[in-house]
Amino acid sequence: MATRLQPVDAVTIGVGLTGALAAFEMVQSGLKVVGLERGAERETVPDFQSPAIHDELRYSIRKAFMQDNVKVAVTFRNNSNETALPIRRWESFLPGQGLGGSFVHWNGQSFRAQVADFVLRSRTIQRYGQKFLDACGPELTIQDWGVTYDDLEPYYDRFEYLCGVSGKAGNIKGQIQPGGNPFEAPRSREYPNPPLKETYFGAIFRKGAEGLGYHPYPQPSSNLSRPYTNPLGLKLEQCVFCGFCERYACEHYAKASPQTIVLPLLLKNPNYELRTSCEVLRINLDSTGKKATGVTYVDGAGREFEQPAEIVFITAFPLNNVRTLLLSGIGKPYDPRTGEGVVGRNYSYQTVGGPTVFMDESININPFMSSGAPGTMIDDFSGDNFDHANMNPPFIGGQYVGSIMTGARPIEFHPTPPGTPPWGLEWKRAVARHYNHTILIQQHGTSMSSRLNYLDLDPTYKDAWGQPLLRMTFDFPENDIRMSQYIADKVVEIGRAMGGKTIIRGGTKRPYTTTVYQSTHNAGGAVMGEDPKTSAVNRYLQCWDVPNVFSLGGSAFPQNITYNYSITIGALTLWALDVIKNKYLKSPGPLVQA
Ligand SMILES: Cc1cc2nc3c(=O)[nH]c(=O)nc-3n(C[C@H](O)[C@H](O)[C@H](O)COP(=O)(O)OP(=O)(O)OC[C@H]3O[C@@H](n4cnc5c(N)ncnc54)[C@H](O)[C@@H]3O)c2cc1C
Ligand code: SF4
Repeated sequence: MATRLQPVDAVTIGVGLTGALAAFEMVQSGLKVVGLERGAERETVPDFQSPAIHDELRYSIRKAFMQDNVKVAVTFRNNSNETALPIRRWESFLPGQGLGGSFVHWNGQSFRAQVADFVLRSRTIQRYGQKFLDACGPELTIQDWGVTYDDLEPYYDRFEYLCGVSGKAGNIKGQIQPGGNPFEAPRSREYPNPPLKETYFGAIFRKGAEGLGYHPYPQPSSNLSRPYTNPLGLKLEQCVFCGFCERYACEHYAKASPQTIVLPLLLKNPNYELRTSCEVLRINLDSTGKKATGVTYVDGAGREFEQPAEIVFITAFPLNNVRTLLLSGIGKPYDPRTGEGVVGRNYSYQTVGGPTVFMDESININPFMSSGAPGTMIDDFSGDNFDHANMNPPFIGGQYVGSIMTGARPIEFHPTPPGTPPWGLEWKRAVARHYNHTILIQQHGTSMSSRLNYLDLDPTYKDAWGQPLLRMTFDFPENDIRMSQYIADKVVEIGRAMGGKTIIRGGTKRPYTTTVYQSTHNAGGAVMGEDPKTSAVNRYLQCWDVPNVFSLGGSAFPQNITYNYSITIGALTLWALDVIKNKYLKSPGPLVQA
């Protein structure tokens, strides 16, 4: 029997990026907020300090910061005819656990999406025609977001300044800026900090790409290029290129994370209470099913509590957001046979994986000296930046391309050219020969939503509390393979122009596997939109069916964008919170009429 607690104004399910932002904005408005986090409390000091934080076996291989999948796993299959099995070792994607969520162990690659991304369906039809879109794949279920780039621009700006993003603007109010990305959407002002220093591998990439007529620019990064005080008065430090960034927390206060950009103020606020080691099981609804009354959770001692709240924010990472909605009976679950239902619909992923470029022994890369987002990139093949009209076979979407090597740590990085034995003396000799003379190029891009890919509750496997696990049914649509393979050829040309002696070609292939790291940009499943028949939340991330529940994060993306998505998640979250503060709190109810 659950113990009923004193009611509060709002509760967040999870205290990662979106949970920290939501709670902060709400306490600023005078609300009493409880943050329920399934993982532990942790701070830069003492938890993220070296030498312990540079333990590659513990953090990169054994995934110490990730969701405990002994307790709560995700089951996976490639298509509806297969039986899904639980993923017991995270590899393909790495959802986090603990105060700060995945935004603690992220890289800091800090892009905005482009104007076209938010109107993908209408823009594709307008530019290429319905017939072309059908030829890309009749199974594609891409749609517009219901929010535009212009709507989000002020919130992108706010979030970038909170994080202290280091970069060079390419387009300020329509004026192209030398040194930046000429393809970027117009921004209202410069980045808060200048870009990180270019690495040697970045300089080699720049030369090769420029020689082919492309437009290199420094990757925007939330690894800070200089000491910085954010608008909340929190001080961040300069990145030292320690080489242990993604999958690790920053010991130097040099990477934007909830711990560095907002939590110190939130945790001090008397209106906020953080409760860690608390697993939220479900959102409770009243007898009408149209209003949430709060949440039920289990604490670290196994005690069950009911926490009444006027507003519930689901801020649990996209996959967990969708599972929470399904477990709580909020919104109609997606049925792939009929195409009806919205929760679980339009789950999408990302296409990643570029070539390995083996250089001459005279080129010393020193790849161990790096940060989480130190890249030099081009956007010539991103999104809709190039004309797709004559692509044969046809496809939509694109990828950014860049050299982004993030530390070359000893257990994870041993590049060897084709023909090298996979173990033994010859393998060791090859690793010694190539470790310091090899450049990785990334292709990183869109993945389209499809009626065949979705999330639902697994009929067999349960979590530690007896609740069904989330089941993922996913394979890359043929459209994505065509796109990625087209770009793979272009990137091999760049590798040659860089002086590569041997190049292992990249590009996405089918079937999708969960055994190789690709991206933790799982998207969709509770998508936003203007039509409740094809979206679970409205343009303010408010559940259509239960208006006092807001589902924040990448679960709202109708399909996935070219870029690493957290800056867009931050902007989208601040956009929704602004309306919640200024409109919803004054008059609770649906913010958009269905
Ligand atoms: C290795 C890695 C590198 C990345 N690099 C980049 C990058 O360079 N650029 C970029 O844009 N993005 C990157 N990301 C993605 C980024 O981390 C996420 O987009 C971001 O953290 C998502 O924010 P969120 O609030 O949705 O989830 P999170 O920040 O993960 O927070 C969710 C929180 O909810 C908690 N939770 C979940 N379920 C429950 C429950 N039932 N009860 C209680 N608590 C719960 C979790 O424990 C977690 O703490 C990276 C991710 C990883 C793993
Ligand atoms: S690379 Fe820079 S930002 Fe990343 S953990 Fe190291 S010091 Fe921090």
